[in-house]
Amino acid sequence: MAAPAVEGVAVGAAALRSVLLRVRQAAQRAGTQPERVRVVAVSKTKPVSLIRQIYDAGHRRFGENYVQEIVDKAPQLPEDIEWHYVGHLQSNKAKILLTGVPNLAMVEGVDNAKVATHLDRAVSNLGRKPLKVLVQVNTSGEASKSGVDPSDCVELAKYVKLQCPNLDFSGLMTIGMPDYSSTPENFRTLSNCRAEVCKALGMAVDQCELSMGMSGDFEQAIEMGSTNVRIGSTIFGPREYPKKQTQ
Ligand SMILES: *Cc1c(COP(=O)(O)O)cnc(C)c1O
Repeated sequence: MAAPAVEGVAVGAAALRSVLLRVRQAAQRAGTQPERVRVVAVSKTKPVSLIRQIYDAGHRRFGENYVQEIVDKAPQLPEDIEWHYVGHLQSNKAKILLTGVPNLAMVEGVDNAKVATHLDRAVSNLGRKPLKVLVQVNTSGEASKSGVDPSDCVELAKYVKLQCPNLDFSGLMTIGMPDYSSTPENFRTLSNCRAEVCKALGMAVDQCELSMGMSGDFEQAIEMGSTNVRIGSTIFGPREYPKKQTQ
């Protein structure tokens, strides 16, 4: 069954194709190889049937940001999906998340040492392979956004890299302000954080990912060095009935 069109805009497989093309073009403009930019299809609030349609179109990376929802959906979908948990995670949900989603590939949104510790312990208890994590940075300074202050990014990155042997510190993530004029500044802040983190930890810049860019600003984010874009509504349609639930 085809996904319903929303205001004449295709959603589902056709929307995915269009996003992948735009990602490729932005990567070319940035002088980056398109394969170096990962597209995470953020499926929160969307039904398994629609995720399945995107999967059948060949996509394998999906993102969710409510623990209960990803734990419900993941077992109903193929095991070769690489799930990303995006956004703030409560430390007391780390174990549920890891137990419920064996094919969890990455947590994009570690914003304090406590959640890192809980994730590290859960990975160890399960005996699964190290979990890739990104440290979330609040680059816009808005109280509504999670993430460490840019001035604390080195400290938390260091904690994850040196104190959490079951976590694979893989880079930084931010949301940034939604309006077009201020995101460049926020994306630049994340890029500057990466330079500091890499210097402090002796990492190569190309080993430290930047997850930035969503439906409204992913092309710009790629032009500014993003290696991981998180795209929800442009692929799945607007979230008309956002879930009100705790994470
Ligand atoms: C929902 C969500 C997205 C996707 O947002 P769109 O604007 O629909 O693309 C990306 N990142 C995080 C952390 C989210 O919660």
